[in-house]
Amino acid sequence: MTVVVLFTRDLRVYDQPVLSRACREYQSVVPLFVVDERIRRSAPASPNRAEFLAAALADLRSSLRTLGADLVIRRGDVIAETLRVVAAVGASAVFVTADVSGYAQARARLLLRESAQAGIRVEFGPGVTVVPAGELTPAGGDHYRVFTPYFRAWQQTRWRHVVPAPPRVPFRQDVEAGPLPAADDIVAGQRSPVLPEGGESAGLRALEKAVRVARLGGQDRDDLAADQTTRLSPYLHFGCLSALHVARRFENVDPDVVRQLAWRDFMHQVTMAFPDMPTHDYRPRDIAWRDDSDALTAWQEGRTGMPIVDAGMRQLLAEGWMHNRARLITASFLTKTLRVDWRHGAAHFARWLVDGDIANNAGGWQWMAGTGNDTRPNRVLNPIRQARRFDPTGVYVRRYVPELADVAGADVHEPWRLPERSRARLEYPPPLIEPAGAPRGHSAQPPLWSAE
Ligand SMILES: Cc1cc2nc3c(=O)[nH]c(=O)nc-3n(C[C@H](O)[C@H](O)[C@H](O)COP(=O)(O)OP(=O)(O)OC[C@H]3O[C@@H](n4cnc5c(N)ncnc54)[C@H](O)[C@@H]3O)c2cc1C
Repeated sequence: MTVVVLFTRDLRVYDQPVLSRACREYQSVVPLFVVDERIRRSAPASPNRAEFLAAALADLRSSLRTLGADLVIRRGDVIAETLRVVAAVGASAVFVTADVSGYAQARARLLLRESAQAGIRVEFGPGVTVVPAGELTPAGGDHYRVFTPYFRAWQQTRWRHVVPAPPRVPFRQDVEAGPLPAADDIVAGQRSPVLPEGGESAGLRALEKAVRVARLGGQDRDDLAADQTTRLSPYLHFGCLSALHVARRFENVDPDVVRQLAWRDFMHQVTMAFPDMPTHDYRPRDIAWRDDSDALTAWQEGRTGMPIVDAGMRQLLAEGWMHNRARLITASFLTKTLRVDWRHGAAHFARWLVDGDIANNAGGWQWMAGTGNDTRPNRVLNPIRQARRFDPTGVYVRRYVPELADVAGADVHEPWRLPERSRARLEYPPPLIEPAGAPRGHSAQPPLWSAE
């Protein structure tokens, strides 16, 4: 009896429940990854994620070879290619990790339908989140809309056991494995100069390093310059690390990381219940977004003249990653201050983020735009206060905005206050939004500054 294990964004062998179950229950297992043309062509495709994915596939193939198997790689329509491999190896079942996005749900439905017609069994297993999306529901609802009660229920849930990598993967040697795709074959285009190394092996090293750092204690996850969050998000996005495994490693070391993973689970269960999350307001609020392509471009390029915003946006372009606090500040600035539609911001993030994720990205954007799960939807972050609080000596800004490298201390956050002579020497744009007034050059609504 043969089973095809269709890998999607669960690119690992450690704590990979569907792979382990396949190895226990079947005489032969065919691990398969299909470079999905539909995802490849969908906007906004990301060359940064393509590079990470190519490395993750190479690493997965190498791990599977060590376990006596291989990673079969195909390209095209994921359902058609899967069924073709199923037919070629005479498999009776397909195992897949369940996922939450609208696309993943539609893919699952299609796979079930087409497989049923061919007499093939399809089974879905856990592995994308710590607690499977949909497992926790409030009384009278199909999902939690607010994080705090979700977190309370989440903390009381029994987690499944972490499953070690199978000792051996019994493989059908008569199937051609196919070449690994290069990053450019997945999505070509400009990439960030500094990107994390993709794959489970790099992810496990990053995890152990993050645990060691956490053991030293003293992290302030909001300190922009210290940059002490785990940076595990790309590995979690592609499933090079299991969220459950990460939660277990941190549970007695740093409860803050476990809480962040609960946020991730929360966003995933919201997206599963509301698959339109990346395109539609979760809580429609009839906001009159401004159509301002100049402001959007300045924001995207990190040229708004608001140093803390520009630093975040340039970190994104340089590293394909941005500190969580900077994501909040830049998203608030685009949606609440420039009043540009969150969908433009989410699309730009999705183009560049290596961890670019349907659930977390759309969830984060809607949360900040006030259309999502924030219980205080009118919250506006004052970028200057945020900068003074979370980058008190300006180190983060100077790291990413070289035009301001010579401005000392916290003065870097308000270059417009510098003496005229010093300001004139800076090749840095004037603020797009005057800190105490309306946007320059157009009659937009005045910016909304708040106490935060
Ligand atoms: C506007 C906006 C867009 C975002 N887009 C994404 C995205 O596309 N992909 C993504 O993974 N995260 C996104 N986040 C959430 C968060 O910023 C990142 O997960 C985090 O910065 C990743 O860094 P880390 O791995 O060092 O996080 P840590 O602080 O070390 O947290 C550990 C893990 O928990 C998860 N996590 C942390 N914070 C959040 C959060 N607020 N919501 C959901 N999960 C969280 C991540 O998987 C992260 O790797 C977004 C947040 C905002 C405000």
